[in-house]
Amino acid sequence: MASNGSTRNEWQWQKRTRRERRRLHREAERTGRGPLCGICNLEIDLSLDHAHRDYLTFDHVVPLARGGDLDGEIRPAHRSCNSRRGAGRPRATMTKQQWARSERPRTLLDW
Ligand SMILES: [Zn+2]
Repeated sequence: MASNGSTRNEWQWQKRTRRERRRLHREAERTGRGPLCGICNLEIDLSLDHAHRDYLTFDHVVPLARGGDLDGEIRPAHRSCNSRRGAGRPRATMTKQQWARSERPRTLLDW
């Protein structure tokens, strides 16, 4: 169990990205195009399975590691781009949604 306050942050992040994800899906339905990745600027395919490397994730515009605010601006990004960039967010290869769905105890896994 994390006892350093990050659990609450994870939860807030999760709520926020879920909302944003819904918004992007609605927009994609309307425009017929996916959002652009904030890192590589290519379209993100919203129909991809969450296990896909180019699945939609969210990235802080200012990385937390460089003083970014957790509540600061976020942008869509491919998971592959996001994890390559990676700064400041451990477990960047796993989306918060996967994290939420995962029922395995985190202490047993080396993330
Ligand atoms: Zn990208």
